[in-house]
Amino acid sequence: MSQNLLTVAYIAASALFILSLGGLSNQETARRGNLFGISGMLIAFVATALSPNVSAYGTLVAVILPGAIIGAIVASRVAMTSMPELVAILHSFVGMAAVLVGIANYLQAEQSLTGVEVTIHQLEIFIGVFIGAITFTGSVVAFGKLRAIISSKPLTLPARHLLNLAMLGGSVWLGYQFMGLEAPSGLQPLLIMTAIASVLGIHLVAAIGGADMPVVISMLNSYSGWAAAAAGFMLSNDLLIITGALVGSSGAILSYIMCNAMNRSFISVILGGFGEGAGASAAPSSTQPAGEATSTTVEEAVELLQDAKSVIIVPGYGMAVAQAQHPVSDITKSLRQKGVEVRFGIHPVAGRLPGHMNVLLAEANVPYDIVLEMDEINEDFPKTDLVLVIGANDTVNPSAMEDPGSPIAGMPVLEVWKATNVIVMKRSLSSGYAGVDNPLFYKENTKMLFGDAKKNVTAILGQLVESDRKGGGKAHTTEKVLVSSSAR
Ligand code: NDP
Repeated sequence: MSQNLLTVAYIAASALFILSLGGLSNQETARRGNLFGISGMLIAFVATALSPNVSAYGTLVAVILPGAIIGAIVASRVAMTSMPELVAILHSFVGMAAVLVGIANYLQAEQSLTGVEVTIHQLEIFIGVFIGAITFTGSVVAFGKLRAIISSKPLTLPARHLLNLAMLGGSVWLGYQFMGLEAPSGLQPLLIMTAIASVLGIHLVAAIGGADMPVVISMLNSYSGWAAAAAGFMLSNDLLIITGALVGSSGAILSYIMCNAMNRSFISVILGGFGEGAGASAAPSSTQPAGEATSTTVEEAVELLQDAKSVIIVPGYGMAVAQAQHPVSDITKSLRQKGVEVRFGIHPVAGRLPGHMNVLLAEANVPYDIVLEMDEINEDFPKTDLVLVIGANDTVNPSAMEDPGSPIAGMPVLEVWKATNVIVMKRSLSSGYAGVDNPLFYKENTKMLFGDAKKNVTAILGQLVESDRKGGGKAHTTEKVLVSSSAR
């Protein structure tokens, strides 16, 4: 393929990537956005493979074929709830690739470069390897935390910020040593910096607590983009630079949006400052809830639903685990047919990855226009007859607003307790991802419907359909359960 044709193909692929990002910003156009992305990647791949730089087709096929097969199998098997883990480990591959490309690029220097070009090229290599190493080890730690192989508690070493600064300073000094050294004499400072940056990546992510993990994932997404852009500079590949910059900047914007949604300071999260005490086994907050939670039954839930004129459904991670979205969608349909106003309230970090709930609800054909973001629906809870909380916990925890000592203090939450009645569906009174007790369960207007969300939602649907068929018929059972922290 001629250089001109390659340039045209790269421009087309870049345009498709930009259209893809635009499409992904909205649920209704997300599918199309994905198709744009796939087409862009296909063009980029074919054009690169046919470019004049590529000649070792045997090696290319030997590397790509197993990679494509493994990727396809893993992606088709992964559960939505494990998606963040997959994303984290894929980010680590990008980081590793940037490190390897950087080192290889240094060892096989381009002969055509002279003077300041050599300096710029070496700088690209050094920075690319630095970001790549941080991304690689940071993503591996994030994977470990999400998989619960590593404790999600923040690692708070004494003087940890000083330690980070020392590692950064050390890397800058090694960079100074590295500049101007011809291969292979500069390999030593390059490899020492790689080791230091790897430790820095581990330390940065290990210092971040469980509650801040959503931001870490999008931040590593951003890092992996910058690592790819750096690799693009090293290889003088414009498309890789553009793609890397798109991923890097969109990841940074997403991290910023998520920080706002969680009322966290971006810089503090990156430096592990806010994670303190926000791990899975967070320190007890000053107003630890205790007392009686009221349990309820499917029959009573059905009765409340039949009496309600307005219902808000708040899904969370538990709905994803239980895969309850389809019966939830059917309940919504059934209630709407009877004239009940049904809407969904989605917290920006509900579930385990950005947009998790939106994807599940879209999959179950819930109309987009009744799926509202937290800011759009929060004011409507006081005017709502019934809220069904399905497997959500941290995102509906009033202590975020009421208890300044809580690890999630200040995080905006869905104010479900302001509704007339609240039914919380989960299996027990245990805490959510952030490890924080939830006073919602003990409020007067809250009833707990214990058990697997899918089982309960399916039973509610069955009784709704049955009672419609019979033209009514309600049952009412309420049972008080005494719950203490130790019983959980
Ligand atoms: P939470 O993790 O706070 O709570 C989910 C609840 O679901 C649990 O308390 C659990 O209670 C319940 N549950 C689990 N399985 C089932 C089941 N089969 N049936 C019924 N209930 C079940 O979820 P939220 O969505 O409210 O909050 C998300 C949390 O995850 C936040 O802390 C957020 O910061 C974090 N996070 C979010 C990411 C993102 O990008 N969105 C990424 C990483 C973390 P029980 O065991 O009693 O059933």
